[in-house]
Amino acid sequence: MHRDHSKLICDISELTALFTDTANLDSLLQKIVEMIAHHMNAGVCSVYLYYEEADELVLKATQGLRLDSVGQVKLKLGEGLTGKALLEMRPVCEGNARLHPSFRLFTGIGEEKFCSFMAVPILRGQNRIGVMTLQSEQKDHFTAEDVNIFRAVTSQLANTIEMAKLLIGINKTVPDEKKTAVRVSQLKFVKGRSGAEGFAMGEAVVVRLPALEDMLAVGSEQPLTLEHLRAAVLATERQLESFQKAIETKLFDVASLIFSAQILMLKDQAMLGAMEALINSGATPQEAVRQVVAEYVARFDKMPNAFLREKRYDVIDVGRRLLENLVGVRGVERQYARKIVIARELLPSDALKLSTQGVQGVVLLSGGVTSHVAVLARSLNIPLIIADEEALLSLAPQAVLLLDGEQGNVYVDPEPGVVAAFKEKEALRKGAAQACRNVKARTLTKDGAVVHLLANINLLGDLAVAKDYQAEGVGLYRTEFPFIVRSDFPTEEEQYVIYRKLVEIMKGRPITFRTLDIGGDKALSYYDYAKEANPFLGLRSIRFSLRHQDVFAQQVRAILRAGAVSPVRIMFPMVSSLDDFFAARAVVVECAAQLKSSGIPHLAAPEIGVMIETPSAVEMSDELAREAAFFSVGTNDLIQYVLAVDRTNEKVADLYVPHHPSVLRALERTARAAVRHKKDISICGDMAHDPRYMPFLLGIGIRSFSVDARYILKIQERIMSLDTTSARQTAEKLLGLVSIVAIEKELASEYPVA
Ligand code: PEP
Ligand code: MG
Repeated sequence: MHRDHSKLICDISELTALFTDTANLDSLLQKIVEMIAHHMNAGVCSVYLYYEEADELVLKATQGLRLDSVGQVKLKLGEGLTGKALLEMRPVCEGNARLHPSFRLFTGIGEEKFCSFMAVPILRGQNRIGVMTLQSEQKDHFTAEDVNIFRAVTSQLANTIEMAKLLIGINKTVPDEKKTAVRVSQLKFVKGRSGAEGFAMGEAVVVRLPALEDMLAVGSEQPLTLEHLRAAVLATERQLESFQKAIETKLFDVASLIFSAQILMLKDQAMLGAMEALINSGATPQEAVRQVVAEYVARFDKMPNAFLREKRYDVIDVGRRLLENLVGVRGVERQYARKIVIARELLPSDALKLSTQGVQGVVLLSGGVTSHVAVLARSLNIPLIIADEEALLSLAPQAVLLLDGEQGNVYVDPEPGVVAAFKEKEALRKGAAQACRNVKARTLTKDGAVVHLLANINLLGDLAVAKDYQAEGVGLYRTEFPFIVRSDFPTEEEQYVIYRKLVEIMKGRPITFRTLDIGGDKALSYYDYAKEANPFLGLRSIRFSLRHQDVFAQQVRAILRAGAVSPVRIMFPMVSSLDDFFAARAVVVECAAQLKSSGIPHLAAPEIGVMIETPSAVEMSDELAREAAFFSVGTNDLIQYVLAVDRTNEKVADLYVPHHPSVLRALERTARAAVRHKKDISICGDMAHDPRYMPFLLGIGIRSFSVDARYILKIQERIMSLDTTSARQTAEKLLGLVSIVAIEKELASEYPVA
């Protein structure tokens, strides 16, 4: 159908010319979307504005989607196709958007039935102002000409919208009280961030932590003394220790970290001494606790590092418990079974308490997705969403919430259609969870070659999933987690306890310990890095360990001691020369000698391998294969270093191509060196869980893969459908191709993506 685009442009410029009152921005946008939807014969036309400070795109007007979703649908820059258009500052046009990997469906806003999708960023120079989208029920509805016309429209609007935004200070992120009050009753949907995955539905219950002042107000008739405080400290210690015990089997490594910090605070003479001094100078014990806790909180609040700032919650947690024990009042114990808890903030021990009471899910108004509470929620299987929406605290009694912990979405009193859609999703999830039953004990190719599938482990809690999916062992244990969540380097003893537990759980199955891999994007909050311009090329991984041999030796000793229970393998990350490897291996040999001379049981001669993650290691792969017991290829890093593309930089994400000819050649060369020296080689980067690359990887001789255990079934099914002869032919064919495009074509013909 021919559409007269010049008329649309004229109408819009007329409208914008008439626009003089910024208070009417919303109605201007609404008129415009109606006009465009009609003109383009599209089911939906929407406009999103971008608020830089909050890094949020907010739906401001729509024709075709539910009107009450205006102001509620929020996206991050880069999220979904809409966010992608703005991030990349270019139009996105999809004939069937659902097939696009970036597509995000918002249920409950009437978006389900639309196929074709077009998003055009609204830009003023390099300033991101917003995005305009069109959707149609018909597939392939929009043409290249439509994209151009839509571009013209948005560029015409950009000026007006930017001006209006500036004038009404729309960029401010502080919520407007009046608006919040109006929205409470209308609140249908809140976009947050996912802290822990999963779906949950239940009645909402708001939990408010008593402020320290309120706790102090919980008076006691009886005058309290220093002795009462000492007794309260002991009682608090006992409570924390019993908490720790209760979850030790389930959350061994993390739980002990959380509570040991709190127990440490309780035992800290400086803290107790300060309280005692205040009591001696006339303060009541309650005042002393409150004052000292408040001082500590203030000190943590000033920390430049976000991780350390979160420690404030541990201090408050200890303080609250101490006060409760002091005045003999229990925190309000409530029934949370099957409820969704909404709280401004929660303490780690609250999360545990809630979990034992059968809470369905949690919505927090503040906190980081890497905070202790989020980590705990993940391991406790409680869906958790962090959503900064004040109105959630004032929901009507008995409001029902539906949490989509995958997308970070909160639905308030969801429509039956939304509930049904989620029930279906939940059934699929359960089905997927049971899929692990279909994993076979052995993985064989069609022609009978044996392939080993192992698990990557970050937390000991991941071992349960590894067991469900029958992982043959742990191919990569990322030892840095206990380092990252702490506020200081863990001691040899602390590491040993965690490592021994891992070895005991694995009962003799193979485990490969990767020594500390920090630096790059994994900074330690307590280590004072001199500012590095290029942290990925800086004091990272084995370089850090070799520079800090005391830290390194403690870790190695802890691993060797755990290895006394049953043998383990050790490998070093980011090795870039034989010299690195020799130096690191010498530390292991030296540690074994120390342990021997001290008479401490240990593994005397572990297999010592090397991760292949740098182009220089590939270049030296022949020599490294002669020296090392095994290779483990970290493709995540190898790709970034071979291609000089930062793996964490979304601006160059499209250049991060695993099937780049240079990467394929580097992999082949590495595999050839290992095979020639009869050394074991496995892939432990994300490339190992992409079924498209399996023929190539088998074809170059790889027979061992270490992946997040949830991928094991998918990979196993793929491997069992392949035979090694044709895999070799595929690999040869791919290695003969010299461009990314040609390789992509070949991969697509081998494994068409649905
Ligand atoms: C890798 O680089 O591929 C790898 C497995 O290590 P990480 O992702 O922990 O850097
Ligand atoms: Mg790596």
